[in-house]
Amino acid sequence: MIKIQNVSKWYGHTQVLKDCGTHVAKGEVVVVCGPSGSGKSTLIKCVNGLEPFTQGTITVDGISVGDPKTDLPKLRARVGMVFQHFELFPHMSVVQNLALAQVKVLGRSPDEAAARGIALLDRVGLRAHASKFPGQLSGGQQQRVAIARALAMDPICLLFDEPTSALDPEMIGEVLDVMVELAQEGMTMMVVTHEMGFARKVAKRVVFMDHGEIVEDAPVAQFFEAPASERAKTFLARIL
Ligand code: ADP
Ligand code: MG
Repeated sequence: MIKIQNVSKWYGHTQVLKDCGTHVAKGEVVVVCGPSGSGKSTLIKCVNGLEPFTQGTITVDGISVGDPKTDLPKLRARVGMVFQHFELFPHMSVVQNLALAQVKVLGRSPDEAAARGIALLDRVGLRAHASKFPGQLSGGQQQRVAIARALAMDPICLLFDEPTSALDPEMIGEVLDVMVELAQEGMTMMVVTHEMGFARKVAKRVVFMDHGEIVEDAPVAQFFEAPASERAKTFLARIL
């Protein structure tokens, strides 16, 4: 579903991605981890064309992200993205947040979009909060709304960039529970996270990045029990 080959990216003279390659098959979950500044966000943003890259190729469902002929807005509509800071529209109700792109991008009627939004809120346990504004919800609830919003577009895969890093500890579980459920239902997911319990539970592989490089790309158990590189060992010792 996602294929990243020989991707390099520079910001000016600084190389932030160095010949990166990995893949996520349909129905698979791949976790990306690594120290701050290692290029995780940059890599994941390259996948849906939010960041241009300098060299290499990325395809999503066979569509080349870097090809100038590719209709990026159309591709992005099918690749859901969930950010650390939710990025909900503060002046719109929860259900309006869910309906907006469905109407504007997919051309659904407002009624249809709202109904789909409510069904997804039900699924993430927030049906009762449909008419509230994001600011009236907890961080964990807002992140679940953000996930529901991504799902409302019927995505072919979901990208997550540290979805629980901005949350108070007691809210992390409720967001991870939703993500685990999605994984178990067969959603294709690329997830930047340091939640290693989540990785162990649902991920197929762990991609470990350091200084813009993919240093390891290994099955989950192998990564945790016998990391191949000193860099991964040091990283794991710090976070576990
Ligand atoms: P991570 O998500 O792993 O913390 P990032 O992908 O955010 O890392 O950043 C990777 C590197 O790229 C960092 O060294 C960061 O300082 C640099 N970087 C990120 N965005 C920009 C930018 N817009 N301009 C210049 N450098 C950037
Ligand atoms: Mg980041």
